[in-house]
Amino acid sequence: MPKPLMETYSPPDLDFVRGEGVYLHEKGGDTYLDFISGIAVNGLGHAHPKAVAALKEQSEKLWHTSNMFRVPGQIELAEKYCRDSFADRVFFTNSGTEAVECALKTARHYQFANGRPDRYRIITFTGAFHGRTYGAINAGGNPKYLEGFGPAMEGFDQVEFGDHDALKAAVTEETAAIIVEPVQGEGGVRAIPDVCLRGLRELCDQHGLLLIYDEVQCGAGRTGKMWAHEWAETARPDIMAVAKGVGGGFPMGACLTTDAAGEHMVVGTHGSTFGGNPLAMAVGNVVYDELNQPEFLQHVVDISNTLRQQLGQLQDAHAGKVEEVRGRGLLVGLKLNAAYLNKKLAAKARDHHLLMGAAGDNVARLAPPLIINEDHVREAIDALDKALGALEPETA
Ligand SMILES: *Cc1c(COP(=O)(O)O)cnc(C)c1O
Repeated sequence: MPKPLMETYSPPDLDFVRGEGVYLHEKGGDTYLDFISGIAVNGLGHAHPKAVAALKEQSEKLWHTSNMFRVPGQIELAEKYCRDSFADRVFFTNSGTEAVECALKTARHYQFANGRPDRYRIITFTGAFHGRTYGAINAGGNPKYLEGFGPAMEGFDQVEFGDHDALKAAVTEETAAIIVEPVQGEGGVRAIPDVCLRGLRELCDQHGLLLIYDEVQCGAGRTGKMWAHEWAETARPDIMAVAKGVGGGFPMGACLTTDAAGEHMVVGTHGSTFGGNPLAMAVGNVVYDELNQPEFLQHVVDISNTLRQQLGQLQDAHAGKVEEVRGRGLLVGLKLNAAYLNKKLAAKARDHHLLMGAAGDNVARLAPPLIINEDHVREAIDALDKALGALEPETA
C-alpha cells in the first residue's frame, strides 16, 4: 500500500481505470471478469447507461442541500421501498454500517418510547457482520474487530449460529431486539433456512422484541427477490438495514421500518448531513426501478441456478479442495478444505483474470453483477477450474 494511506487494506498490484458491464479494465490494458462487483454492490454491472445518465443529469442540477431541506428524490425512493415491502418509513444513510446504527437506535428507542427503557439488549449471532462503526463491531461481535478498541460496548448478547436452545435462553426481560443477516455474507456465506427466519419472527412476537434484518449484502435483488427475507414469506422484519447493492456503486444505504417501530424516531433523535443526498437518490431510484422487475429477478434466479449447477460439477472435479457450495442466488460461497486457503484461490483466480473474494470460515466468495449471462458463467467456471487446479495445499 503506498505510504499516505492507512494500511487497513492490502490490495493486489492492479489499478482499474474503467468498468464496463461485467468487466474491469486495468491500466496496463488487461481485462478482468468481475465476479465480486465491489462486494455485492454493482448489481447492474459497471457504467450502466441509465445510472450514468441519471447521475450526469442530477450532477448538473443540484448536488447537496443537506437534510435541512426536503430532497424530492428521497420521498420518491422511500415511496417505492414502502409500496413494495413490509416498510412504512425510511431513513437514508451513506453506508451499510450507518444503516445498521440507525436500525439499532430505532429498536432501542421503540422500547424506550413504549415505557420499557430497561429493554435495550440486542441478540446477535456468531459469524455476523454488521459494519465497522462502534455499534456495528459490537453487534458483529467478531473478537478480531473488537480487540484494541477499548472495552466492549454493553448490551449485545451473541448466540451460536443455529443453536435454537441458546437463542431461547438468551431472551430476557432486558432484550429489545434480534439482529440477523438472512444470508450471512462476511461470516462465510451462510443462508439462514426460511423456517428459522419464521421461528425468529414467532419468538419476537412472543416476547415483544423487534426483528431486525441486516440485508446490506443479501438484499437489492441478490438472491432473486428484492429482499432476501421475502423467500421466507411471513418472516417479515420490523426494521431492515440495506446498502451495498441499493446504490449500484454510488454510496448509499437506508434503514426501513414499520410504522410502529419507526414512529418514535422524531426530530432530534437521529440525523445525517449527507444521507439521501440528491446524487445518491438520482442513482438509487434508477437502480431500484431496474432491479424491481419480475423478469430481472427471475433472471437472477435462473442464472444463479446455472452457476450453482456448474459449481457443483467443479466441486466434484476438485473434490479434495472444495467441500461445499453454499449461499443463495448470486451470493455464493465455496467452502474450501482446511488444507487450502480461500485467499490463495482468489489470487490464483486473478492470475486467470477472474476477480472473486474471500469470506470467513475459509470460504471463497462470488458475488457477480446480477446481469451476468451464461457466457460469463462459462468464462468464470473455466478460470476457477484452472485456479483450483493450480491451488497448492498449505504445508503444516
Ligand atoms: C458490508 C456490510 C455492512 C457494512 O456496510 P458498509 O457500507 O461497509 O458500512 C453491514 N452489514 C453487512 C451484512 C454487510 O455485508
